[in-house]
Amino acid sequence: MNIAKNLQNIRNTIPKNVQLVAVSKTKSHLLIQQAYDGGHRDFGENKVQELTQKWENLPKDIHWHFIGHLQSNKVKYIAPFVHLLHGVDSVKLLKAINKEGLKNNRVIHCLLQVKIAEEDTKFGLSMQEVRSLFESSLMNELPHVKIDGLMGMATNTSEVETVETEFNALNSFFHELNKNPLTASKLDILSMGMSGDYLLAIDCGSNMIRVGSSIFGQREYQK
Ligand SMILES: *Cc1c(COP(=O)(O)O)cnc(C)c1O
Repeated sequence: MNIAKNLQNIRNTIPKNVQLVAVSKTKSHLLIQQAYDGGHRDFGENKVQELTQKWENLPKDIHWHFIGHLQSNKVKYIAPFVHLLHGVDSVKLLKAINKEGLKNNRVIHCLLQVKIAEEDTKFGLSMQEVRSLFESSLMNELPHVKIDGLMGMATNTSEVETVETEFNALNSFFHELNKNPLTASKLDILSMGMSGDYLLAIDCGSNMIRVGSSIFGQREYQK
């Protein structure tokens, strides 16, 4: 497995404006270091403890993306260093992030996770909940939180049309919010697409993809 080569192959197939987050969950420090030595800086993790251990042991200029479901009581462990939180899906969590941002004297960048898949198991806010959030005054009360954009996960299916419909729906919503004068700030990031569907996601407007197994190989265990 040549990680630097896998990264290069993916970069060669995607437009320059699309950011590539290398999802390194369950993968060793050694493998991450190989990707780092090849020049890669953005990595994604979905477990708080695993992420803090990697942050402690790997180069400090890595941009760590938290891509999993985050519990409010665990924000404190990653608040000092996390680069971008992709899975923000509740007001309670936004308030906890603001509190930890304040303690750490930093603004924490977040993506709101929007539910686009049919499955009930996927976390995320509905589009109406996101509209209400921006139309309320809540974000004005959370100066240590900056919402940079949206994140979504499509249904886990081989039916391309289903996935495409879901990605297009999120892209339309992203544009709708950017036209809405009530949206607190302009949203720049649309995070959608994984190993199996990132080219489709980019065709549907994604500008940040989260790719794991196509870079590091299959995971031994997965949650
Ligand atoms: C694991 C994971 C990925 C990467 O999945 P691959 O299929 O290995 O590319 C992307 N996004 C999220 C939220 C994940 O949990």
